[in-house]
Amino acid sequence: MFSLSQFPLQFEETSLTPYMSAETLQCHHGKHLATYIKNLNDLMQGTVYETLPLDEIIVKSASDETAKKIFNNAAQVFNHDFFFRCLAKDDGKEIPEEIIAAFGSKDKLFSEFKSAAAGVFGSGWAWLVKDSDSIKIMTTANADTPIAHGIKPLLALDVWEHAYYLDYQNRRVDFIDAFLQHMVNWEFVKENLQK
Ligand code: MN
Repeated sequence: MFSLSQFPLQFEETSLTPYMSAETLQCHHGKHLATYIKNLNDLMQGTVYETLPLDEIIVKSASDETAKKIFNNAAQVFNHDFFFRCLAKDDGKEIPEEIIAAFGSKDKLFSEFKSAAAGVFGSGWAWLVKDSDSIKIMTTANADTPIAHGIKPLLALDVWEHAYYLDYQNRRVDFIDAFLQHMVNWEFVKENLQK
């Protein structure tokens, strides 16, 4: 059984204010993620998925037509834990050189990421990923996740409305800007690059 305590926030709920409120984190981490975990546990009971680690549940269920709900909930558990680890209070952490080099400049990296994240129609995710040797931006719809496609995630942004509506209402672009300028945990991104 997965529990919320296995996916703790790595920072205080108030530490991202004013860019992401404690209210958003209580709802997003404390309620949305908790619901995905509960649904996954309920759906897996008595199935072959029950004893697998989360990443294996995702890869296996991705190609199992009878396990779409398991895939959706497992992928959302992974995506949310990954996303919350991507967040940190802005303290001047450096963007890894390898990432800047892949885009030419920080401005190009930010503008490409912003354009991709703003362009997700409906619910989904924007990612910085490493696919073979190439560092690039991708988006996924709904619960879909790079690890289901053998692609390594480096950075994730949740652009489902529940991620930003309490703080930004319909202004997704303002949320994306605040994320890029003030909330990215580049140390975590660097760790992912080195894995
Ligand atoms: Mn979410």
